[in-house]
Amino acid sequence: MNQFMQLALDEAKKGMQSGKGGPFGAVVVKDGTVISTASNEVLLTNDPTAHAEIVAIRRACQTLHSFDLTGCTIYATGEPCPMCLSAIVWANIKTVYFALAANEAEKIGFRDSMIYRHLRQEETILHLEQMDAEEVMGLYEAYEKQGSYIY
Ligand SMILES: [Zn+2]
Repeated sequence: MNQFMQLALDEAKKGMQSGKGGPFGAVVVKDGTVISTASNEVLLTNDPTAHAEIVAIRRACQTLHSFDLTGCTIYATGEPCPMCLSAIVWANIKTVYFALAANEAEKIGFRDSMIYRHLRQEETILHLEQMDAEEVMGLYEAYEKQGSYIY
């Protein structure tokens, strides 16, 4: 087994056994060095976004003192859900290795596949409606004029 995936699996087992969250682990690696490890912490922190990949990305960003994880790779025991996939893209991570596919998580009751089906417009799972765009547009224009980071 790949050493980084083994580490992700070890984290997943520890997290699951200690009641932190579901059976998911993730490891962020840069240049062959482990930057961060994490397990799912949804139950521990009462945070539905505390998936292993998100926790690992947050820790890696703290360690590297940057919101940009360019050059990093992430190993995850499960196929990243759409939220984690988006976080991985926002972090500029270009390579993801995962062990189990999303449909395997669905077999034990996790809802990743449902979100993927929603994104493919095969299923509607929430109401999404635009409102008050004109009133809020000034905020974007002000940010652009401010010359701050676009990331
Ligand atoms: Zn996720």
